[in-house]
Formats: sequence, structure tokens, C-alpha cells
Amino acid sequence: MSPNIDPYNREITYLRISVTDRCNLRCIYCTPVKDLKVLDHANILTYEEILKVIRAATDLRIKKVRLTGGEPLLRKNFMHLVESVCRIPQIEDVSITTNGVFLKEMAPELFEAGVRRINVSLDTLNPLKYKMITGRECFDAVWEGLQIAETAGFSPIKLNVVAMRGINDDELFQFADLSVRKPYHIRFIEYMPIGRDTHWTPEKYISSDEIRSRLETFAPLHKISRSIYDGPAERYRFKSAQGEIGLISALSHHFCPSCNRLRLTADGKLRPCLFADDEVDIKTPLRNGCSQEDLKSLLQQAIGRKPKRHHAEILEKGACLRPMSTIGG
Ligand code: SAM
Repeated sequence: MSPNIDPYNREITYLRISVTDRCNLRCIYCTPVKDLKVLDHANILTYEEILKVIRAATDLRIKKVRLTGGEPLLRKNFMHLVESVCRIPQIEDVSITTNGVFLKEMAPELFEAGVRRINVSLDTLNPLKYKMITGRECFDAVWEGLQIAETAGFSPIKLNVVAMRGINDDELFQFADLSVRKPYHIRFIEYMPIGRDTHWTPEKYISSDEIRSRLETFAPLHKISRSIYDGPAERYRFKSAQGEIGLISALSHHFCPSCNRLRLTADGKLRPCLFADDEVDIKTPLRNGCSQEDLKSLLQQAIGRKPKRHHAEILEKGACLRPMSTIGG
């Protein structure tokens, strides 16, 4: 049997890596209500350690890597990691999830290194609301970064929008209109109760079905057939639009049967499922000088521990204990 097949016959080809738990923003859906703790630097995997894990993963036929965080562009010498990952021949696709604040400086060099796909978190098109959601006045920097990324040649540029009732759901039509005017893929993500101490409440949660029916009062949405790089998003487009709409229903229609991911946390734990706190420690063996074969067997252990499905649709606070920033969104 192929080394990357899990017990439920899913092929695991995608590694998402949180390269740091630190972030320059304090988004309400991501940051704990109180006591934001950050990892000691010594507990965060070094780039050399991350690269060792990726190389071992390629032996198990992992082909896609996403670098995320925390805010990945904030980590010192991030370009060194990006260039090294892009040079690994077996990795066919390197993507980044970022808040976009540093994109205007970094987009050209990221493109030059070989990254083609970026996801930028932008939950509002209103600069004042941006400050309310993220705690920082960075809307203009992100917007400028998006234009520079577009000019640099990134395609697709995906905008991640966490849909929150009473916070940004009054902007659905503005986002719909943006998808018509710009070649952006606007992806509405269901607000998930991640972490122990979150601002999440059932009232703020909006299902993808509701988002879709509200968007359809803007104009008819046409379904787009899926491509291998889609991940869990259901894709739609308005007639004559340059961009697209994506709906990511992690809670209402869980996409576990097609899950192809493994996550590596900032502190070196392999996490078989975003919502389950079961983890395989890879940092301790790495620091004890384990071999590439040992790393492969730890990766296989994590693949073997992928649950059939998550149970976070039971809408409770704290579907898992860790905050999103250490897991890597
Ligand atoms: N700093 C980067 C950024 O802002 O995109 C990467 C890390 S952030 C944790 C990655 C993604 O996680 C964000 O785009 C956001 O959509 C998602 N995210 C974080 N907390 C979430 C939550 N409670 N529900 C849904 N999505 C969440």
C-alpha cells in the first residue's frame, strides 16, 4: 500500500506548516479573549528542522506545502525557508497564507522564489472595521500589497474572509462586487470555534448555505467544476466576473472524506486533524538526532492517526484546545 494512504483510504499529499505562532495582528476570530501566550523561540522549529520534515514527507509522496502561522512573513529570514522549499523537486506546489501586511515589500521576491499561490486574510473592505477586527490600522498596507502581488503575477490570489454575523456579513455584496471587478477568489470561511478561550459564539456563526443564498440575491451564482488545487472550497462565479466566490463549510458540510492534509505546528507536533488535539511529537526526535527513516515513520504514524471525521459541528466553544496561530490556519 502507498505510504501516504490513511486508514480511511484517503491519500495524504498536503503538509500545512505553521512557521511561527507570532502575529502582528490580533484578529478577533483567532486571538484568545485573554492571555495571549507565545511560544519561546527555543520551542519553535528551526528552518533546518522544518526542511528535514518536508524532505522526509516527500518520501511519503507529499507534494504540496503551505506555509502559514501566526504570520509567516513576520518570521526572520522567511525567504530562506521559501527558497529552500521551492528548490525541493518533489514539492510541486508551495503556497502561503498571510495577512498581507508585508506583501508590498515581499510579493516580488516570493514570486521570484517560485511561489504562485497566496491566500490573504481580508475580512472587511472597510478600513475602520479592519481595525476593529484585527486591532491594527493596516487596511491600506494590505490593499497595496494585493495590487503589488497582482502585478507580480500571483494567480490565483485568494482572499480569506471569515464570515461573522453582525460583524462583516453586511459586506457580502461588496465582496461579491469585488469578485466581479478583480481576479480574486473570495473565500468565505465558516467561523470555527478553535482554541480554548475564543470570542466565538453560536450567534456569530453563519453557515455557507446562508452565505450562498444571500449572495444569490446579488446575482445568480454559477458553479465551477473542481480542480486538483481547490481544497475544500465549493467554487462559484458571477456572470462575467474576473474572480470567483469560494465557500468553505468546515462545520456545516464537513469535508473530511476528501481531507488530504497533515499539519505541522509551530512547536513541532504533527497534527492529523485541525479539530482534534491528538498530535505526534516530531520536535523531540528531531532534536535527539533521529534519522530520515525515523521522521518518515513518525509522519506515517500521524497519517495512520487521522480520524475518519471531525466532530466540531457540535457547535460548542473550543472545538480544540490549541489556538489557530500555533496550528496554522
Ligand atoms: N497570519 C496569516 C493570515 O492572517 O492569513 C496566517 C494564519 S491565520 C491563522 C490563517 C487563516 O486562519 C485565516 O485566513 C483565517 O481565515 C483562518 N482562521 C483563523 N481563525 C479562524 C476561525 N476561528 N474560524 C475560521 N477561520 C479562522
